[in-house]
Amino acid sequence: MKKYLRLGLEILLALLLVAALGLAYWSFSGKKHVVHDLAELNEQLSEANESLEKAMEEAEAAKEKLHEMDALIKRQREFDAIKTAFANGVVLQDIETLYKAQKSLTTERQLGLAGLRLLTKGAEDPETVEAFQKSLEMTDWNSRLATICASQNALAAAGKKVTVLADCNAAKTESAAKGGGHGKKEGGHDGVHWGYQGDEGPEHWGDNFPVCAKGKKQSPLNIVGPFEKSKDALSVAYQDGPLKILNNGHTIQVNVEPGSSLMINKDSYELLQFHFHRPSEEQIDGKNAAMVVHFVHKNKAGKLAVIGVLLNEGKENAAIKTLWDNLPPKEGVEHLPKVKFNPSSLLPSSLTHYAYEGSLTTPPCTEGVNFYILKTAVDVSKIQVTKFPFKMNARPVQNLNGRKISAN
Ligand SMILES: [Zn+2]
Repeated sequence: MKKYLRLGLEILLALLLVAALGLAYWSFSGKKHVVHDLAELNEQLSEANESLEKAMEEAEAAKEKLHEMDALIKRQREFDAIKTAFANGVVLQDIETLYKAQKSLTTERQLGLAGLRLLTKGAEDPETVEAFQKSLEMTDWNSRLATICASQNALAAAGKKVTVLADCNAAKTESAAKGGGHGKKEGGHDGVHWGYQGDEGPEHWGDNFPVCAKGKKQSPLNIVGPFEKSKDALSVAYQDGPLKILNNGHTIQVNVEPGSSLMINKDSYELLQFHFHRPSEEQIDGKNAAMVVHFVHKNKAGKLAVIGVLLNEGKENAAIKTLWDNLPPKEGVEHLPKVKFNPSSLLPSSLTHYAYEGSLTTPPCTEGVNFYILKTAVDVSKIQVTKFPFKMNARPVQNLNGRKISAN
């Protein structure tokens, strides 16, 4: 009987989501001023569709034993009708018009839009790819797994042959166990919760993100000599651009428009975003700085490089004043305060550095990230440190495991 109970629950969940989606769309077409979170529902639809399809397969087998199945099959036909409404493009048009009128989109909405495009126009449509790309760019490192999962689920729902990552299924199971709620406050997406304290703290990251616990080249590090000679010459060309600032639940992150670059020897890296940790994650001779800013870059091959600038307590920092004066009013929404900002205003004059091979310092702790921690720190005032909305968002230093730190 256990099997039927699970089956029943899955179908119930799927039908509830479909009902919610139908209701939201009906309500939206009637009253345009009401902004519905259709993107999220669309994401749920993809998931629901997947579990419904699986459930229906099992239902076929169980049909003879369960009379109720007839009613469920009728419901599936209704579900198919809603899918058709998506496929004819009316929903996509409506949502695109609605979102265009908004000043900024949340990552979830951008992702939902991409999913909707996919269901409507297919995966080959260049604008579908672009929409997914945009949502990936908007996502902070930590939510990328969730974004990838949602994209894969959407592809699967659209009938594409994709293997959904095992990590995605684990995340979904956890989400279902917690009542299916999207825990925005905890900063997670799809139930992948992590933080810096208690049950969600760094010592538990490995439960959901194995690399965090098992990786041998993890960041941050305590930087102590002796050092090898760094072979890397750095030069930056960051540009003025519109300030796009986000509180992603784990840090304050500034997303950067294309055009700001870092040269490492002859290899060009694009600056994607920069964000802050309090205190600094890296230690120099066992000591943390008050804060650190991490500039995250990516080259054409997808390799990541991070420049870390330590912030010591001292004079007020004008660049940080601009950022803190424009902190986002809401978590999870990119804030666009019509202010120009040049990321190089946060850099010291010299780029001499310590260099090592490391990882993302947040889940999923992916390795293969080159770190350059600048030797010259910049000032930040004590008041500015306390104005940073996160009291503690630094991962503890990790084992060196035989790695060599170099310096120039
Ligand atoms: Zn960081």
